[in-house]
Amino acid sequence: MIKLILLILCGFVLYSMVSGLLKPKNSSHSKNRSNEGEPMVEDPQCGTYLPVSDAIKATIHGHQHYFCSKKCLKEYKKSQEK
Ligand SMILES: [Zn+2]
Repeated sequence: MIKLILLILCGFVLYSMVSGLLKPKNSSHSKNRSNEGEPMVEDPQCGTYLPVSDAIKATIHGHQHYFCSKKCLKEYKKSQEK
């Protein structure tokens, strides 16, 4: 009877170890997707990718765009107004 309880305990410990090993794998995988845990955005004017905190945000024709510099924002606005 004690053997059976030990077996169940062993199985439970193994199960929690396996599920514990799987969880950090998943979080490290999602970390690889975004650099330094920050989402990357594309500058539609020059095609540069940059972290969202460094980007200049602008809403043009109801769409949110991100730019690497004010120069790109100006040029993009110009090209959209044509
Ligand atoms: Zn740019």
